[in-house]
Amino acid sequence: MWHGIHGHDSVVQRFSQGLASGRLGSCYLFLGPAGIGKHTFALKLAQALLCQNASGSSLDPCGSCEACQLMASTNHPDLDLIGLPAGKNRLPVELFIGDRDHRHQEGLCHNISLRPRLGSHRVAIVDDADCLTVESSNSLLKTLEEPPRGAILILIGTSRSRQLPTILSRIQIVPFNPLPVEAVASLLIEQQIVSDPTRAHELAQHSHGSLSRALEFADPELGALRDQLHSQLQPTAFDSVRLASELIAQVNQAGKEANVRRQRLRAIFHMSGDLFRSVLRASSGVSDDHNKPQGKTLQAWIRQGESVQGHVLAALDRCLEAEQQLDRNANQATLLECWLDDLAEIFSPMQDAESRV
Ligand SMILES: [Zn+2]
Repeated sequence: MWHGIHGHDSVVQRFSQGLASGRLGSCYLFLGPAGIGKHTFALKLAQALLCQNASGSSLDPCGSCEACQLMASTNHPDLDLIGLPAGKNRLPVELFIGDRDHRHQEGLCHNISLRPRLGSHRVAIVDDADCLTVESSNSLLKTLEEPPRGAILILIGTSRSRQLPTILSRIQIVPFNPLPVEAVASLLIEQQIVSDPTRAHELAQHSHGSLSRALEFADPELGALRDQLHSQLQPTAFDSVRLASELIAQVNQAGKEANVRRQRLRAIFHMSGDLFRSVLRASSGVSDDHNKPQGKTLQAWIRQGESVQGHVLAALDRCLEAEQQLDRNANQATLLECWLDDLAEIFSPMQDAESRV
C-alpha cells in the first residue's frame, strides 16, 4: 500500500518510474469505474509532487512540511481542483478560461500557467471529465499541447467511450482497475462506514471493487429498489407500464436536484445490468452466490434454459446503453420508458415460450 492508497500498485509504479527517470508526463487521464479511488490517488500524487521535503525522484510525501499540510486541507496555492458545479451535469467553459468578463484571466488554464508559489510544480485535477463539453475541451487544447513547465494536469473519468476525441488524442491514459474485495472491506472499516468486519466483507463482495457501489449496497432505500427490480425484471411476469410508473416514483422520491435524480436512475440501470450479468453466470452454471438473482426471478430465467442467454445479453447491453444515454442528458422519464419498452420487446419471445409450457 502506497501512503494509504489501496489496490493501485501498478499505477504507483508507473508514476514512480516516470519520476525517477525524469520522464514524468504533463497531462494524464485517469480512467476507471466510479468509487475506486482515482480522485484520492490524484490528490496523493499531487501531494508527492508538491511536498517540499520530497527528493524530486521518488513519490514519498513527508506529511509534515507546509505543502503537505496545505494539501491535507486541499488549500495548496499550486493546486487547482475542479468538478461539476452543484446541480449541473456539464463542466462549463468558465471553469477553464474564466467568465466573459475575465476570459483568460481566471480559471484552470490560466492558473496552471502561473509560476508555482511554493515548489516546482503546479497541479490541476479535473473530476467528472466525462462531463466536459466540446467548448470546455477545446479550451484545454493549448494546455494539453503546450503544457506550462512544471505543470501536471490530471483529468478523471470513468470510461474511454465517454471522452471526446480531441482529449483522447492528446493525453496519456492511466487505467485504474476495480479494487480487490479486501481493499474495499478495509476502506469501509477505515472510513468508519461499518464497524463489523463480517458486514464489511459482505458489502465488499457486492461492490464490484467500488467503494461507492458498496455504499449503495448498504443503503436500505436502494436495497428495496434492488429487490423490486429483482422481482419484476423477469421474463414471465414483466409489466413495463407498471414498472415505469413505479420507477419514476422512485426517481421522484430521490429528490428534486438533477444530479441526485440522475444518480438514482443510474443506480436503476446498473443494478438491472448486475441482475442480467448474474443471470448469465447462473445460466452458464457459474456459481456466484453473492450476486445470485433471488428466488422466483432466478427460477423464471433458468426454466428457459440456455436459449435465454442471447436475450439476457441483449437486455444487459440495453442497460449499458441507457447509462450512456443518461450521460448525454436525455429526458429522464422518456429514457426510462424507452428502456423498459425495449426490455419488454427483448423478453417477449421468452414470455411466448413460457406460455406454451
Ligand atoms: Zn511534505
